[in-house]
Amino acid sequence: MLSKVISRRELIRLSGAAGGTALLAACAPKEVVRVVKQTVVVVEEVERKVEVTKEVVKEVVKEQQAAKVVEKVVQAPTATLQAAIAGLKPVPRSRTAGAVRTTGGNMVAIQTVRGAIAPEDLGRTLVHEHIMVDFVGAAQTGAHRWVREDVVQTMLPYLQALSQRGLSGFVDCTPMYLGRDPLVLKRLSELSGLHILTNTGLYKEPYLPPEAFTLSPSELAEQWIVEWQEGIEGTDVRPGFVKIAVHSGALERVQQTIVRAAAATHLATGLAVACHTEGEVAAEMSLDLIEEAGMSPRGYIIVHADQIDGIAKHCELARRGAWLEYDSIGGRPVGEHVRLVLDLLDQGYEDQLLISQDAGWYWVGEEGGGRVRPYTVLEDEFIPALRAAGVHEDLLAKLLISNPRRAFAVG
Ligand SMILES: [Zn+2]
Repeated sequence: MLSKVISRRELIRLSGAAGGTALLAACAPKEVVRVVKQTVVVVEEVERKVEVTKEVVKEVVKEQQAAKVVEKVVQAPTATLQAAIAGLKPVPRSRTAGAVRTTGGNMVAIQTVRGAIAPEDLGRTLVHEHIMVDFVGAAQTGAHRWVREDVVQTMLPYLQALSQRGLSGFVDCTPMYLGRDPLVLKRLSELSGLHILTNTGLYKEPYLPPEAFTLSPSELAEQWIVEWQEGIEGTDVRPGFVKIAVHSGALERVQQTIVRAAAATHLATGLAVACHTEGEVAAEMSLDLIEEAGMSPRGYIIVHADQIDGIAKHCELARRGAWLEYDSIGGRPVGEHVRLVLDLLDQGYEDQLLISQDAGWYWVGEEGGGRVRPYTVLEDEFIPALRAAGVHEDLLAKLLISNPRRAFAVG
């Protein structure tokens, strides 16, 4: 029998450390060695269970916090939220049958141009790129301006280069009146195998139709919600997010309308809102409107956040809950973006950062689509540079896989 109480640490040292068992065997009878080993197994099992319990407790705390937030919203809905909801027509049941349901159900999915997929199937994703852009203006643009097959054949190799590198998700940020063509995107998705997302919403002048200046936010939102429910321009392709834009400086009236319409669309559908911004004033003002409308900034992506000066301002926006999108990677020296990303990671905002290149695109009106900027700088140069700077693989996976998945999940 053991003549004294041995501490847990001592037990582990004696039985587990290299040579420890041999030492114990030499000094004590076989029975004592067996008992000590069994005790260590029990202790390790208890420790493992303690770890599992800690995880469960964490989950429970998270759920309680979420419940509190829901309770707050239910108890104190803002007048604006009520107004936004009141201005929307209810969703007819038949329109949502068989689709991704976001009201009354718990289904969470990502809407691609070929249908809804499970969020975990999206994979490694570029969150802001363009397949085609037409800068001719809202009054003149339309599918008569390009030959679909030419666009598909020109852009396919650039997308295949992504598949070859293990990417599987591609968010196309070209809005309507700027060259959005659901059939081109669908065909390219079929041929490349990539999950491609397109959008609803409106850009900014001079790419706005006349009704943008006359309709109310809820009337505009209604048009976008119809695209979500029924498909875009008579196709079965449905948007995976809302794309809007604001100019630099204070928001003009039409832009305020568009931001409010985006918030109303989000509240009715659950679609994320990605807003092209140009500098901090527009970013802040658009975020103010989003909050006023009762939309959580967690569904709001500040596009081109990497153009905003000073990491302090980035942190201020992130603190409010919005996504920051650093999307001009490759558009300036890669080292500058590496520094920016490292600075934001140092501040602890890794869960709100999205990265991409704003690259491409088939330029409508130019011979053969003009000069296309490939989508490969991020994988070939930027990620290796982050790795060399000491960013761990788990964190890289977060930036390219789990953050895009969370940002674009609907439900
Ligand atoms: Zn863009």
